[in-house]
Amino acid sequence: MTGLDELPIRDDLRGLSPYGAPQLDVPVRLNTNENSYPVPEPVVEAIGKAVAAELRDLNRYPDRDALALRADLAGYLGHGLTAEGVWAANGSNEVQQQLLQVFGGPGRSALGFTPAYSMHPLLALGTGTRWEPARRGADFGLTAQEAVSQVRQHRPDVVFLCSPNNPTGTALDPAVIAAVLDVAPGMVVVDEAYAEFARPGTVSALAVLAGHPRLVVTRTMSKAFGFAGGRLGYLAADPAVVAAVQLVRLPYHLSALTQAAARAALAHRDALLGTVAAIMEQRDRIVTELRHRGLRVADSDANFVLYEVGGDQSVAWRALLAHGVLVRDVGLPGWLRVTAGTPAETDAFLAAVDRMLSEAA
Ligand code: PMP
Repeated sequence: MTGLDELPIRDDLRGLSPYGAPQLDVPVRLNTNENSYPVPEPVVEAIGKAVAAELRDLNRYPDRDALALRADLAGYLGHGLTAEGVWAANGSNEVQQQLLQVFGGPGRSALGFTPAYSMHPLLALGTGTRWEPARRGADFGLTAQEAVSQVRQHRPDVVFLCSPNNPTGTALDPAVIAAVLDVAPGMVVVDEAYAEFARPGTVSALAVLAGHPRLVVTRTMSKAFGFAGGRLGYLAADPAVVAAVQLVRLPYHLSALTQAAARAALAHRDALLGTVAAIMEQRDRIVTELRHRGLRVADSDANFVLYEVGGDQSVAWRALLAHGVLVRDVGLPGWLRVTAGTPAETDAFLAAVDRMLSEAA
């Protein structure tokens, strides 16, 4: 077999392994922040019909600009948005990759506040964009002052803010976003993959899009909509940003099947988003229960919880797995991340934590 190293791959990719959490076949999978609830039957039927209606025309390329889907997404987001200010791709990962292709790239840099979504630096790597790992403050927080001083220091072409932040779960104070917008010399991308799970009182960056042509908000149907397998992410921004992204997108990147399925899912958004409240309840329950057990837990506005295990997190990760519960080791010493799913999954997770704690005692 030919080894990867025998191929003339780029020097900066040598020795790397592909990104991805383990996809293990265990009873309770709480490691990728998926929505644990399957697609409800009426929505399954509607998506099936919408996809079936496309099949005869698969000899033709799809709408390259996905205009109908973008109009539907704009309608969902509100804030006066129209299709011209919305762009969609195969997951928000692809949206962010396109943003880096057009606003980053060789000779340019992108900055994020670590720990944050680990794909941001990998997308930078893949697009030849230099990555600046800026830091979050005490307890993973980020103040306007901390953010501004690091943006001023590095002057990146693209700043990533993640709100609610993955893996910590906490939403950003809108003052941080406003302060970064004031000083950033380039684009500011606010990754709001988990926005629908935010606690009351949090504010989406969508509210400040008007008048900020360098602000981009990315969203996804993978989490709240329970549509991760459908692969549909999107952004909202000034129409000029959408025009810019179209310079680098592959023609026909969104298949006719994806567009039809996503539109049907959006048309049934009440049914799909009906799980959000139940998931938030389990999220809050996990936070409360872990704190009762004396563990430190980050405040969560997302569908997951970051908690301190009190010891080596890789040992705790394996112990939970031995009890049939798969959580995420995000590489933060002493901390693990667990997705909030169904009440039964929370029961199983808490029972596994209790067994672990009693074994350790
Ligand atoms: N942003 C954040 C913060 C995420 O956690 C994820 C998924 N783990 C994504 C973006 C990408 O999701 P998708 O490509 O499925 O839209």
